[in-house]
Parts: sequence; structure tokens; C-alpha cells
Amino acid sequence: MEFAAFADQVDEIEAESSDHGTVDGVSRLLEHAARTDPWDETPGESEERTGDLEVVARYVQGRVFPAWDARKLEVGPSACHEAIARAAGRNVDADDVEARLAAVGEIGTVAASYEFGGQQGLGAFTDGDGTDGLTIREVHETLVDLAAAEGSGSQDRKVDLLFGLFNRCTSTEARYLARLVLAEMRIGVGEGTVRDAVAAAFDVPDDRVERALQVANDYGRVARVAIEDGLEGLEAMTLSVGRPVKAMLAQAGTVTEAVESWEEAAVEWKYDGARVQLHHADDEVRVFSRNMEDVTDALPEVVEFADDRLDAPAILDGEVVAIDEAGDPLPFQEVLRRFRRKHDVAKAREDVTVEPVFFDCLHVDGEDLLETPLRDRHARLESLLAGGEGRSKLWLTDDPDEIDAIDAEALESGHEGIMLKDPDSTYSPGRRGKRWLKRKPDVETLDCVVTGAEWGEGRRATFLGTFELSIRDGEAYETIGKVATGITDEKLAELTALLEPHVRSQDGTSVDVEPAVVFEVGYEEIQSSPTYSSGYALRFPRFVGVREDLDPDDADTVERVRSLRET
Ligand code: AMP
Repeated sequence: MEFAAFADQVDEIEAESSDHGTVDGVSRLLEHAARTDPWDETPGESEERTGDLEVVARYVQGRVFPAWDARKLEVGPSACHEAIARAAGRNVDADDVEARLAAVGEIGTVAASYEFGGQQGLGAFTDGDGTDGLTIREVHETLVDLAAAEGSGSQDRKVDLLFGLFNRCTSTEARYLARLVLAEMRIGVGEGTVRDAVAAAFDVPDDRVERALQVANDYGRVARVAIEDGLEGLEAMTLSVGRPVKAMLAQAGTVTEAVESWEEAAVEWKYDGARVQLHHADDEVRVFSRNMEDVTDALPEVVEFADDRLDAPAILDGEVVAIDEAGDPLPFQEVLRRFRRKHDVAKAREDVTVEPVFFDCLHVDGEDLLETPLRDRHARLESLLAGGEGRSKLWLTDDPDEIDAIDAEALESGHEGIMLKDPDSTYSPGRRGKRWLKRKPDVETLDCVVTGAEWGEGRRATFLGTFELSIRDGEAYETIGKVATGITDEKLAELTALLEPHVRSQDGTSVDVEPAVVFEVGYEEIQSSPTYSSGYALRFPRFVGVREDLDPDDADTVERVRSLRET
């Protein structure tokens, strides 16, 4: 396919104002590209054959390589400006390109404003009319070479290669070439557009195209399979160990949402680290970041973990956390000191140790698990990493108190809080949905006076355990709820010592406590309630701490609670 034909069609797509028109335009472009056979061989490409269709499906989105592919052009604006200036002739220099860019603000328009074609030198061929039919294949092969240029002199080589391309460009071609190499395509074509266009062009259902995209992580390949093998081909696409897929993402949410939406919630600690996807093949381990960058070399601990612990091919999803000598988690910033490091990794490793914690499992030994419910995926993870080390613990519960206790334990152990997941959910790469919730921190806290408590049971019989909370109403204290769990034994012993001197009377295991101690309490919601004397109840109250600086007189009032509820 001629690059000019691609550029002209992209120009039309850019001018489209409706979504429908854009999808139509992309669909026609893909059909056009599909009429050309796959090329025989492409330097640097994998064993899969590539052709115009693959490349056009990526280029139209401003991507040169598949999303899973680690190759990058690494062309900075100055290299691009230099190449444009050289192709534009003797009287133009990079400063001139930059001045025009400052005036119009967009590199495509700047590139299109020059006349190319007359320059001799490396890569400068013309067939006399100034437009010697640059093809998509030539452009792509040049960009593959460009991405491969490394080491000293590589910047010059990149400029030379780009110059060779610009020198053969018409104005429309130059517009889109410049935007493509600087990753600034911006023609209003997003992932959804290409999905719909593939579905329309090759007559396959869009949700099946979507699934295939999640698995293959490459629009080019999906377009090719759709045209050659149709729906059946798309359905047969599988994950490939070594090729990262997008990570499933979480939304902020509450315990209320979790327990009301699902029969029970899968609860895990939220680790404060950096996301990693581990690909373990028979003879190779690769580790990818959330952006699918290859970070294997920076994280030898993860590679060693995989070598030691895994014997089957697998794709695992998790978090890499920095830890101190005692194995306790360190803040996120410490992980960053290791994460993308290219040099002196051994030295950095002496300063900061990292360890992986995997919480999901996408593939084991030839079997894709994306469509398997989370509870079963986690069970697979548990058998894969028997012993518990290196993987999350997952609790299944519908009891908010238990969830609170898990949250408190997570915070106590130095982690960020908890994640709440739908145990029946499948793994949706790239999706930020309601199936994974990160517990929202409390928006507000209330300062409540402790007016009662209950002795614990069993192991906790010597501790006061459930605390009755009250707020002020004039001189009186009115109850608003109870905070029960989420407190360690150590904390309970401390609170018992603090409250015991204020116990006024006892009835069975319940004690009446004189107003003296103020607790700061988090909650998800305030509800009206016939149960408590204030007329309100806190939904999911959570012990935050003792306000030693406050007297009972400083505690929050019924009036404040009323106004919080109304806002
Ligand atoms: P956030 O970065 O605040 O959007 O929170 C979501 C991130 O938390 C995920 O992308 C993971 O990197 C991280 N995370 C930590 N622990 C877990 C877990 N148990 N399950 C899922 N994600 C987790």
C-alpha cells in the first residue's frame, strides 16, 4: 500500500466529526490495507508474518509496534526537527522548524508546510517527480531499523533514516509521518474506534474483537486473524507467555458497595509497591511493568523467585514491594529506586531489597485463566505457590466487621489498606471496573466519646472489646454506634488500661463507662437509626485512634452529625 494513500485516508478520518464517520473511515482504511498480501519477511518482527494490515491497524492509532512489544523508536523532538530541516533544503535549519512549531503548536502542520524531495544524500532517492511512491512497507522497515539503532552514533543514524523518509514525502505524508514518529497522531482514533472498525470491516462481533484484543494486545494481529479466520480465529486466540497484556485495574469503592453487590467479597491486602506481570516460560523469565515495559533486568529478586518457585509456564500478576531487613514493607518511593534501573543494579539491590507478592494468575501450563472466576484463579495461585510466600492471602467474607479487621491488620503491617474484589469476576485486561475496588479512605472522621464497652471472649476475655460511641447533645451524651474490631490485642490491652479506671458499673459482660476518653472514628456513611439515642448510626465505623488531646467536651455533636448527613 502506498504511504500516500494511507496519509490521504487518515487526513479524511481526521476531518470527520462524528464517531460513526470515524469508525467508517478507519474501517475503509483497514479494508484497503487488507487487499495487500502479508509481506514475506520483516526485519526484527517475530515469527508472525506482517503486512500492510497489521501496520496500518497500529499506525492509525499512532502506534508503530504492538502494545506488548518492548521496541521503541526513541526519537526525540530535536531529532525529528533536524530530519525535517535537512529534507526541507539548504535554507532551513532546526531553529526554523522550531520557530514554526512555536507559531502553530503542532508538528504535523509544520512538517506539511515544507516542500521536500530535492535533497541528495543518504536515503534520498527520487524518481523525478519528487514523489517516488513511498510504501507503508518501506516506512515500516525504516522505522524498525530506526528502533534498532543503539549506542554511539545512534542518534545520527536515526536522523539519517528519518531524513530519508521525509525527503520522499508529500506534504500530507509528512504531516502524518512526523506525528507518527513523535507519538502525536491525535486524529480522534482511540482503541474503541479500531475495535469497532475491525468488527465492521471484517464482519465479526465487536465484543469478540475486544476479547481478542485483550488476549493478543495487538490490533494488527487481531485485524489479520479477523480477516483470515473470522470469528473462529478470534475465539481461538490465546495468551502467549512472554507477551504482556494490560493489567486489570481497580476503582475506588466502599465496603457497603462490596457487600451489597456481591454475595461475599474477596478481600486482600493492598500492597504499596509497583505492579508487575511475571511471564515464566520453560527457559525464560520476563517481568513487565504496568505499562508493559520490560523491567526484568532491574528486578533480579523476581527472576530468582520465579526460577526457584515455578516449574510450569505461567503468567502472574502482582506487586513488587520494597522491604526492610525485618521483611516489613517500605514506602512506595523505595521501590521506585529499583524499578526502572538500568545500571548498577547489584549495588542498588544492596541498598533496597524488593520482593514480589502475586495476587492473580492469568495462565498456567498452557491453560488461559482469564475467563476463570477470581476465586478459582486464586486457588490455582495457591497451589502454584504452596506455602504462602510470594502471594496474597485472600479472605472470602460478607461480614463488614471481619473486613474491617483485615483492613486494620493490613495497615498495622505497614500496607496501604485493602482491595475488595468480586470473587466471581473474570480477569479483564485494561479494564477499570467495579469488580475490583480499592477501599476509599474515610472522607471524614468523628470524635466520639466512649460511654460503654464489653469484655471480650476467649483469648480476649481480659480485654474490653466492643466500644460504645456517643456524641454530645448539650450536656448529654447520646449513642451513635459501636466500634468492635479492627484492633490488635496489643491495642486492646492499651485501650483496656485507658478505660478501666472509668468503668462505673458492670452488667454481665457489659460495662458502663464514664465519658472520659475520645476516639477518632472513621465511617462510610451516616444513617438515621432508631437503635441509637442520637437518632443516627455510623455505617462501618472504624477505630482510627485515641484523641488524647481532646476532652469529652470537645467531642462532636448531634448537630454536626445532622449537618454531615445532610451534605
Ligand atoms: P491505585 O494504584 O491506587 O489505582 O490502586 C490499584 C493498584 O494497587 C493496582 O494497580 C496494584 O498495583 C496495586 N495493588 C496492591 N495490592 C493489590 C491487590 N491485592 N490486588 C490488586 N491490586 C493491588
